[in-house]
Amino acid sequence: RRLMEIAEADTILRDRPGAFALQPNTSGAIELRDVSFSYHSDRPVLNAISLRINPGERVALAGKSGNGKSTIARLVARLYDAKAGTVLVEGFDVRDIKLKSLRSSVIFVPQDPVLFDVTLRENLRYGNTEATQDELEKVARIVQLDSLIHSLPNGWDEPLGPRGNRLSGGERQRVALARALLQRPRVLILDECTSALDSLTEKWLLDGLDSFLKNVTTIIISHRPYPLQWADRVVSMSYGNIDEHDRALTTSTS
Ligand code: ATP
Repeated sequence: RRLMEIAEADTILRDRPGAFALQPNTSGAIELRDVSFSYHSDRPVLNAISLRINPGERVALAGKSGNGKSTIARLVARLYDAKAGTVLVEGFDVRDIKLKSLRSSVIFVPQDPVLFDVTLRENLRYGNTEATQDELEKVARIVQLDSLIHSLPNGWDEPLGPRGNRLSGGERQRVALARALLQRPRVLILDECTSALDSLTEKWLLDGLDSFLKNVTTIIISHRPYPLQWADRVVSMSYGNIDEHDRALTTSTS
């Protein structure tokens, strides 16, 4: 019965007829217009929320656990489609953008990333098969991975084990972030992707990202104080709504 449910489920996201690719020089503007969403029809998660994020802006989503922060991020990355309202990237409805093109511009880094049972170098190159060794080393430095690489018996050629299980949680998160940076995102979504790091390493890492992310629109989700301080603006979520205070801010930037 479960197999039949899965086979029959119509949740696969497809390109709409006439979908187009984003221009490579996209500025990374994001907008949610009256967006509602639920994973199950009887349990609304987002209630007609509107939010505008300017190109290059760094916005932190804050609020209690379960209030819908990751859901907003998943809709921007089009891991799901909104039930009502519109999610726009670069002024276009995300459903009109070719998924492949959206996936190469909007990069989502989750809390529990998937790594593969290949070497560290190959895991990073999944982000960009053409990345040079210099680029790999640059991003490794930014995400504070260089001392780990020096300590691995085979350095860059160290196999990471099934699902990357030969690394700690914080090391896996940093590999995933390095892989995301190699994709040269226009929009970067960091969904609690530094949660396994100690506070000091997290601060160094975020500060190190500053110059790299200069023109990259960034959404960061975190329960820790420093990522909220690092952002240009904090948007607080409360039970599937954006708090009044932040809605005022949102309108003022519209
Ligand atoms: P946290 O801070 O704990 O990560 P959050 O604010 O990011 O929480 P979401 O992950 O967006 O919250 O979840 C919002 C609501 O949607 C929660 O009630 C959660 O149980 C539910 N939810 C999240 N993902 C799914 C899913 N895949 N299927 C069903 N319900 C889900």
